[in-house]
Amino acid sequence: QQPILEVRDLTVEYDTGSSPVVAVDSVDLDVHAGEFVGVVGESGCGKSTLLFAIAQLLSPPAAITGGSVHFQGQDLVAMNEKKLAALRWRDYSVVMQSAMNALNPVKSIGSQFRDAIMSHDERVDDDRPAEVMRMVGIDPIHLRSYPHQLSGGMRQRAMIAMALLFTPDMIIMDEPTSALDVVAQRSLMVQIKELQQQLGFAVVFVTHDMSLVSHFSDQLMVMYAGQVVEFGATRAVFDHPAHPYSKGLLDAFPSIRGPKQPLTGIPGTPPNLAHPPSGCRFHPRCPVAFEDCPKIEPELYQVGPIQARCLLHAPGQTQPAEPVQEVT
Ligand code: SF4
Ligand code: MG
Repeated sequence: QQPILEVRDLTVEYDTGSSPVVAVDSVDLDVHAGEFVGVVGESGCGKSTLLFAIAQLLSPPAAITGGSVHFQGQDLVAMNEKKLAALRWRDYSVVMQSAMNALNPVKSIGSQFRDAIMSHDERVDDDRPAEVMRMVGIDPIHLRSYPHQLSGGMRQRAMIAMALLFTPDMIIMDEPTSALDVVAQRSLMVQIKELQQQLGFAVVFVTHDMSLVSHFSDQLMVMYAGQVVEFGATRAVFDHPAHPYSKGLLDAFPSIRGPKQPLTGIPGTPPNLAHPPSGCRFHPRCPVAFEDCPKIEPELYQVGPIQARCLLHAPGQTQPAEPVQEVT
């Protein structure tokens, strides 16, 4: 089966005046119909930029400088704004981190839904706005509410309701739960998953919280310094992360299911992308770095069912090439 989304070699650069900063570096990603893909990394790793690039929502100084984004067989990168506007909301929707920023503060939720509907030729039933509000657990009476009259959690739900108006095949989400408290976050995640299973849309879900998304995603992609550093089935990555960075991310958040463990996290901060470290970009922070790491740029290597960008897994590597179990 063809993936509905095929991202190939996608590169995004920020034109900063001096040397361009590569924020997304040759990323490949396949998403199949109905699949839930989590994209995780710390802030500044390029995950939001990747998502904006997929959705064709980048604005200067950021621009796609290479690669393609095929959605249902059509290259979005080559598409003009008019054709894109016809696809957005109808075939794919985008839910942002803050509904407060995405929604118009001086228009009721219902009138914003109507605007989204009017901007497309496609007909929807008059009661569709009420229907999607019920789907996300909000009384349709709130179609008359203004964004500031809703709680943060309800605003995010209203954004998701809006994303569902045309029952799109894919919804891309940028940290839609990050502004919420833990309880509201968990309940919104469960709701997104239920809707996804019921309606069958694919999800690309960007977050810094690997343990949160791990409970809901089929595939996980881990990004560091603009590159994919690990990709594979969520279960496989979660149980045996092959990249030291993924292992650190898993340790950086409390487990939702298991007993509370002390958080170790990852010392240091992500690199300045204007001057990425030589060799493996993670080497200054890597607890298991060895002498080749600053010298050789790792590729994505196959590690059982997973792909990982770490020299420990390079063919012929004499260092122990087992998935890294413990990072101290
Ligand atoms: Fe760590 Fe070296 Fe692997 Fe990079 S290549 S993640 S520095 S062990
Ligand atoms: Mg972000």
